[in-house]
Amino acid sequence: MPTYEEYCEEIKSIWDSAWLTNMGPIHNRLKAGLRDYLKVENVELFVNGHLALYVALKALNLTGEIITTPFTFASTTNAIVQAGCVPVFCDVKDDYTIDETKIERLITEKTSAILGVHVYGNICAVDAIQKIADKRGIKAIYDAAHAFGVEYKGRGITSYGDVSMLSFHATKVFHSIEGGALCFNDSTLAAEIGRWRNFGLDGEGLACFGTNAKMNEFQAAMGVCNLRHIDGEIASRREAFARYDERLSGVAGLRTLPPTDAIKQNYAYYPILVDPERFGATRDELCAKLGEAGIFARKYFYPLVSENKAFGDVDLTASTPKALAFSRNVACLPLFAGLERQTVDRICDAILK
Ligand SMILES: *Cc1c(COP(=O)(O)O)cnc(C)c1O
Repeated sequence: MPTYEEYCEEIKSIWDSAWLTNMGPIHNRLKAGLRDYLKVENVELFVNGHLALYVALKALNLTGEIITTPFTFASTTNAIVQAGCVPVFCDVKDDYTIDETKIERLITEKTSAILGVHVYGNICAVDAIQKIADKRGIKAIYDAAHAFGVEYKGRGITSYGDVSMLSFHATKVFHSIEGGALCFNDSTLAAEIGRWRNFGLDGEGLACFGTNAKMNEFQAAMGVCNLRHIDGEIASRREAFARYDERLSGVAGLRTLPPTDAIKQNYAYYPILVDPERFGATRDELCAKLGEAGIFARKYFYPLVSENKAFGDVDLTASTPKALAFSRNVACLPLFAGLERQTVDRICDAILK
């Protein structure tokens, strides 16, 4: 969080303008700041990331099937279903993102889009996915909730594909209390996105059955404050991340994230994948032991979104064995800006013990 004083200073102007929500001046300042920081043509802000993703699917007029990943947060699949489409689950690769080599065989005449997730800030194979989308005449969309500020080939990661969604939830690398954004290159999409965000209103008319997903001025003010400090926050995360790496990479039975020079990372998460046999304990046993020591590692993502009871009695997990294994064996360790080296060491000592 910014200091109390910094936030109060930022919201003072709201008492002069009496403009609380509906694309106010602070909202517009945050939007401009994010456009620069994220290196993307267009940014539209939302009350949260989930509704941003829903609006993206509606604004692109997607129908039928959307190929996506089961190794994600519930939001991704829920948005697909809520938008009236059917999720088709593709397995993931060792970096936890959708396996682009398995996408094409899932495409049918009903497929309208591929929806990849940049899991833990690892990026999908955006170039290969774009090729598939172009060849088959379908859209490429990204859930970039984990990938704020990530860059690939000098470009902001949210400039890839037709539309990318960001989440500014309080638990993310950058936050506006709750909040979200859509990033896209095609400026002509902005009007349709705006209508879906605001009840379908189009001037005095109504153009579609839109939702209400506008970001208010208090959220935007939190975002403006946090954007001032984002580089320091990410640098602080990097230090904790590097210390985890020093202590944990190479430990038998634990797999940490492989180092990557190809992208500018944001150090959003520190996942460890437990091989119960070689490590000597399961992920669940490890999490329970850590919990006893007051250390809260998250089983993230667990369960798979394809295990949602609302799908009924069908087993949707058999066709995605990697994703299933990851959901049973992965844990994300505490990671945040300001996490001290000795705390990381205490966590690592507990894991090794
Ligand atoms: C946080 C998150 C979302 C949802 O974002 P909200 O802003 O909380 O609505 C969607 N997808 C993923 C992968 C997330 O981590």
